[in-house]
Amino acid sequence: MAQYDFVIVGAGLFGAVLAHELHAAGRRVLVVERRAAVGGNIRCEIRDGIPVHFYGAHIFHTSIREVWDYMNRFADFQPFINSPVANYKGELYNLPFNMNTFYQMWGVRTPAEAREKIDSQRGAVTSEPRNLEEQAIALVGRDIYEKLIKGYTEKQWGRDCRELPAFIIRRLPLRFTYDNNYFNDRWQGIPAGGYNGLIEKLLAGVEVSLETDFLSDREYFLQKTEKVIYTGAIDEYFDYELGELEYRGLRFEHERLETANLQGVAVMNFTDRETPYTRRIEHKHFEVGNPALLEQPVTMVTKEYPADWRRGDDAYYPVNDEKNQALYEKYAAQAASERVIFGGRLGEYKYYDMDKTVERALALARSLTA
Ligand code: FAD
Ligand code: UDP
Repeated sequence: MAQYDFVIVGAGLFGAVLAHELHAAGRRVLVVERRAAVGGNIRCEIRDGIPVHFYGAHIFHTSIREVWDYMNRFADFQPFINSPVANYKGELYNLPFNMNTFYQMWGVRTPAEAREKIDSQRGAVTSEPRNLEEQAIALVGRDIYEKLIKGYTEKQWGRDCRELPAFIIRRLPLRFTYDNNYFNDRWQGIPAGGYNGLIEKLLAGVEVSLETDFLSDREYFLQKTEKVIYTGAIDEYFDYELGELEYRGLRFEHERLETANLQGVAVMNFTDRETPYTRRIEHKHFEVGNPALLEQPVTMVTKEYPADWRRGDDAYYPVNDEKNQALYEKYAAQAASERVIFGGRLGEYKYYDMDKTVERALALARSLTA
């Protein structure tokens, strides 16, 4: 009999939820993680008492009651509402696109005036939008597209907006009310003190092997377990034999500054083309439950630079266009004949937010323990 029922590859949110559930159901579980710490992309580092979201800002939001209740078993959520500010060459606009943005952009004061302005700028885009540029102009008109979307998106994805799928921009709410909440979900918050406590509670009692790359010792692990759950990149698992899936990379530049309050908001988006980074995060503003942090004369900020992805780099965003989706389907078909189940953002090559990640992990755990 094998030593483990499950080897879970990756100690990110997906792997940690699954490990928790399988362990709680009495299964023998080993988690292997190639990084030196658990948490995957939701990992935080505490600097000067400030939880620094080390791999990009993470705001938890969901409309799935089961997931919200589940997360609250492991974390003490602060009621954070994400209200980022866009900075276009020094002009500031509220996000997501709402009456505040329309007032700042055009001086319009009523929803009817805003709609009229957008309609007048929609111009040629009348039929079903074929790409992100057409979709954006159809939704918010040309001015907002030019100032708040085009530069940001082309930096973020390294491609022309006409070569990107329309769905990416449909992630953002569009509202004709004065409401700067970036998300439409019923629940939103950030665990007090950051995400590490959540992950550590999920993994309590579970055997975890850090700095361990499954792929460098694949045969060894396959011998030790009945099943593998793989949350790394599916193409890497198959040694890219059908070709490489495309990902978008990121580089984070963390800085400690001797000032109490640099930008007055957690997330500032730099939407012009010239600024080389897309976002600057000032982490203390996430900790709304800890106002003493704001008094402190130091702050931690992170600039987020989009980057081309190459083999060996961390993969952050799947590029879900038709070509990549078709290649992913081929890998997924191949995976069906393995003793390995693929899950999570990289394993399923999907742009999952944290709540969807948890929902998928809980569903998989249920099917494996039924
Ligand atoms: P990951 O966190 O990527 O974990 C996978 C783990 O597997 C990693 O730790 C990796 O090191 C490990 N691994 C991979 N291959 C191997 C191997 N061969 N051997 C051993 N270990 C391996 N979601 C939200 O809801 N709100 C947000 O505000 C938000 N912001 C985001 C910002 C950024 C910049 C990014 C990139 C994502 C954001 N997300 C957000 C999405 C969120 O990060 C994901 O939903 C979630 O972290 C996915 O968890 P995961 O376990 O699938 O993947
Ligand atoms: N976006 C934009 N301007 C902004 C913020 C977002 O054009 O100021 C676009 C961009 O194309 C981005 C998409 O909206 O990829 C989705 O934004 P979101 O904040 O959801 O990105 P993520 O959290 O995935 O980084």
